Amino acid sequence: MMRVELPRPLAPGLGIRFDVAWHFPIPPYGGGRMGHVGSRFYELGQWYPRMAVYDDVHGWNTLPFLGAGEFYLEFGDFDVSLTVPAGFLVTATGALANPSAVRSAQERARLARAFTAPGQTAQVITRQEAIANATRRVPGTKTWRFTASAVRDFAWAAASGLRWDASTWDGILVQTFYHPDATPWEEANSMVRATLRHFSGALGQYPWPQISAVEGLVEGMEYPMVIYSPSLQKREDQYWVLMHELGHQWFPMQVGSDERRYPWMDEGFNTFADYDAAEAFFKGTAYADTVRRELLAAYDATAVPGSEQPMITKPDEVRQLYWTAYQKPALMLSILREAVLGREEFDRAFRDYVRRWKGKHPQPADFYRTMSNLTGRDLDWFWRNWIYTTARLDQAVDSVRAGADSAFLYLSNRGQMVLPVTVELRYADNTTETRSLPVEMWDLGSRFTYRLATAKRLSSVMIDPRRIYPDVARDNNSWKR
Ligand SMILES: [Zn+2]
Repeated sequence: MMRVELPRPLAPGLGIRFDVAWHFPIPPYGGGRMGHVGSRFYELGQWYPRMAVYDDVHGWNTLPFLGAGEFYLEFGDFDVSLTVPAGFLVTATGALANPSAVRSAQERARLARAFTAPGQTAQVITRQEAIANATRRVPGTKTWRFTASAVRDFAWAAASGLRWDASTWDGILVQTFYHPDATPWEEANSMVRATLRHFSGALGQYPWPQISAVEGLVEGMEYPMVIYSPSLQKREDQYWVLMHELGHQWFPMQVGSDERRYPWMDEGFNTFADYDAAEAFFKGTAYADTVRRELLAAYDATAVPGSEQPMITKPDEVRQLYWTAYQKPALMLSILREAVLGREEFDRAFRDYVRRWKGKHPQPADFYRTMSNLTGRDLDWFWRNWIYTTARLDQAVDSVRAGADSAFLYLSNRGQMVLPVTVELRYADNTTETRSLPVEMWDLGSRFTYRLATAKRLSSVMIDPRRIYPDVARDNNSWKR
């Protein structure tokens, strides 16, 4: 951290120019976020000095990077010139400003095909060409110039000997760069393209001219317009990493939340959106039908009383970061959508949250207020349970009593978490119906008697029939005559 004292205070609306000379030794492997292999493959990130964020909540944000918990970055415009060996291929955050100076006529012609035949993947550098390039010596250097606006970071990759596929969706260039032996990546371009379309529909249009995915040693890392992922044999795993890093183009690349303090606002919101993307991409398969259930399995395995920590805990103090920052927020938003707000209402509000906070720095309270404002609902009780506590849910049917023209369901809330109740009613004539009881039923205490106006005989009652809740004691969820 460097502190620079200005000769005079800087008034609002004025600017100041800094010239900074620096050097950066590229580590072989930089904390899962950058690295290089030999002298012909580089994935760069976190490589230049930048301003800390000054916001209206904390002032200067100077918390150091400690590994767990990522970055809180300011948006800006970039104009970057990179001088590399002449035989290298470079991709970066932004649009290439000088293609004719650095790309061959053949590459430019093949790339143009991606625009004239949208939705089809063009091979700009084929497997054979990549293998030949890997050992070819090209004397001299070339300077690649990239420009980008309204981005919170700048990353770049440079290598020789990579395959290069390209396609477009809605005028946006989708580029994939990979080693000749990384055969799972032959599908990567269409995976990224399909997912770009999915996320643009779900969360708002992707705002930049291109997205580049680079295959290499970095296990999965996101930068504006650039994502790093390894090659993975299992198709579902390969899709998940590419898709997850692409989802970060919305959280936090557009909605610039504070990853250093609140990873659940980017990793968690992204992971929630990821399950929708995976269900859409693999639609019609057993994987799509069951993938979200792993969140409930993770709840059983990880949300252990005494060891689980609240989601709001700072990431460098969290023992189970994957649960707290990724999976639990995904489960939380799934339940908010399915059981509290309804799909249409939630999806509209969540998308509007992205639109309202694009290019800004929402704090947790900004998210709560925005969701409340967009849905007209008081959701404080929901955030309090899920984000600030480790409250657990245990809804129960204590008993059922039949009256002349009514049935009385004696329900109880035996845990500390509150949620609405969904009951499935089965009658003696074998008909069924489902009733939804609002969360306000628990306002006056943990017991509630639901009077059901019916002359029919009930044969069974079941709470949470779709099994979407992390109910810690399911054996008390049903009643049978
Ligand atoms: Zn992530």
